[in-house]
Amino acid sequence: MEVSRTEPTEYPPDSPLCPDCGAKQIRIQTSVFIDYEVAVGGDLDNLRVISDLIGDAMWDETSRTTCPGCGWEGKVADLLVAGTKGR
Ligand SMILES: [Zn+2]
Repeated sequence: MEVSRTEPTEYPPDSPLCPDCGAKQIRIQTSVFIDYEVAVGGDLDNLRVISDLIGDAMWDETSRTTCPGCGWEGKVADLLVAGTKGR
């Protein structure tokens, strides 16, 4: 899934993000809400999906964040570049 930032930033694109090691790339974990409409399929153990509604994926200051470089774990709000938001 392609994720891009939606807000203009005053930071250069190679600004460090990790507060521990200064890595310029980090991971942000978020989730997507999916609403399935199902019906009974051939038997009771198999439900047939009628439709699915997939919500938007986005992150905010409270999203879980990890640094693949040093193993640091925190939240988006803890990154060196403050106020980072995206979807
Ligand atoms: Zn790091």
